[in-house]
Amino acid sequence: MTTLTNAPLLIVGAGIMGAGIAQVAAQAGHSVHLYDLRAGAAAEAKARLGATLDGLVAKGKLAAEAVQATLARIEPVATLQAASSARLVVEAIVEQLDAKRSLFRQLEELLDADAVLATNTSSISVTAIAGGLQHPARVVGMHFFNPVPLMKLVEVVSGLQTAPAVAQAVFELAQAWGKVPVHAKSTPGFIVNRIARPYYGETLALLQEQAAPPPVLDACLKAAGFRMGPCELMDLVGHDTNFAVTASVFAANFNDKRYVPSLEQREMVDGGLLGRKSGRGFYTYPAGVPALPVPVFEAPATAREVAVHGTGAIADALEQAAAKALAAQGWGPSRIRDSGWTGLQVDGARLVLTDGTPACEIAARTGCADTAVFDRPMLLPAATGQALAYAVNAGATAAWKAQAPAWLHALGFTPLPLADAPGLVVARTLAMLVNEAADAVLQGVCSPAGADAAMKLGVNYPAGPFEWLRSWGAAGVIGVLEALDAAYRGERYRVSPWLRRGTAPT
Ligand code: NAD
Repeated sequence: MTTLTNAPLLIVGAGIMGAGIAQVAAQAGHSVHLYDLRAGAAAEAKARLGATLDGLVAKGKLAAEAVQATLARIEPVATLQAASSARLVVEAIVEQLDAKRSLFRQLEELLDADAVLATNTSSISVTAIAGGLQHPARVVGMHFFNPVPLMKLVEVVSGLQTAPAVAQAVFELAQAWGKVPVHAKSTPGFIVNRIARPYYGETLALLQEQAAPPPVLDACLKAAGFRMGPCELMDLVGHDTNFAVTASVFAANFNDKRYVPSLEQREMVDGGLLGRKSGRGFYTYPAGVPALPVPVFEAPATAREVAVHGTGAIADALEQAAAKALAAQGWGPSRIRDSGWTGLQVDGARLVLTDGTPACEIAARTGCADTAVFDRPMLLPAATGQALAYAVNAGATAAWKAQAPAWLHALGFTPLPLADAPGLVVARTLAMLVNEAADAVLQGVCSPAGADAAMKLGVNYPAGPFEWLRSWGAAGVIGVLEALDAAYRGERYRVSPWLRRGTAPT
């Protein structure tokens, strides 16, 4: 078996995903049999697809003939026997191991021994689904994302017994359908649902320690380029679903503390605060995310000395922004490159780019009470009004508590106050996403390029974890993780050995 080009297909399960996969396959020219356990469901799915495609014809986006041809290729069938000529099955039935296993056992009796059996499971082990079959080598994961016609990513998941040629044939088929396939090893959460856990988990942890309210955390991560903040995204996905995925990844990893679910979120699930679908989650709907109050900042007070510390793109951007801010007074900042920290010094006070250490610890270590830390800005130069978290040492003077945000504002940011949490919001979240991706590569789940493609295409991240790693450097990421580990102890923030091996860019 080398190619699935033009292979007749059987899609089992005519729900959201099965219908979407049928559409994509038929549009690519395959003849598709569509079967569902519930009588009439396959025909209804075809009728719904017809209505959707007719709508696109009316808008001039599709040709009527193309739609007719697509629909003609989809044939609802009342029994699996009616589709015994299929060379590829894509299963999109209920997410239960027993149901999937028993379906594949039935199919083995009906289909040729070299027909490929693909599962669209999002969380069940492909190895387990194939377990007990006569020909487990032909079972492979073909994990599409919702909505199937729009989402480009397909995770091609190999179980322990999947034949490489089968995975490759499915990979090439997905490409022929206009998708971007990525190879993955069957492990809990595969690529996307695993690497994305910290995007939710770190925000939930910050909420639990009352570091900031949801709109502030959402604003910080949106300013870093994410389309939706974690709180609004969890509200959209549904807290029941999001919690169930986290809980299943946690359980599947033998209760590894790295993936421990959130008490905060479980309270919400138990209380029926499921997000948009129940009218209330972190936010109330239909109103959604409330606008943040527009803060008023003091002007930076006249200083005798302003110095930008550190090297690299962020220090360079701070220097430019500080020069702009001081130009009206007819002078500019000095630059101290050979410094142990990055940020702005205003006379004796410090505004420090987070390296994961809370402001109180930096103040205690340096003896400089007037210390504030700020989050990692992702858009440079800074003069865009982007939201940026900061925290001031509790023992700082009242003057510096007001001047730290005043300076951040003068540098072009919209500073948002946070409790003095290690790594604030963006640095902490990105470091954990990179760390999770590094462990996935360490364990052979995917390649760095595969992880980057998966996160950009599967969940619309603004960049891939290894792209962040390249621009930030392994030392910086490790530093934030070690600071988090020192602050919280336990397994959650342990550094991936892959990051320490020196194969990662520094
Ligand atoms: P769905 O509930 O919309 O559809 C499932 C369909 O399968 C239903 O029509 C049901 O009648 C049918 N079915 C159930 N048991 C069957 C059986 N034994 N034989 C034949 N048909 C059967 O579910 P969905 O959202 O389309 O999800 C289907 C699969 O895709 C699940 O494994 C799910 O985890 C996975 N998945 C879902 C999403 C998503 O966002 N919904 C994304 C990726 C993967």
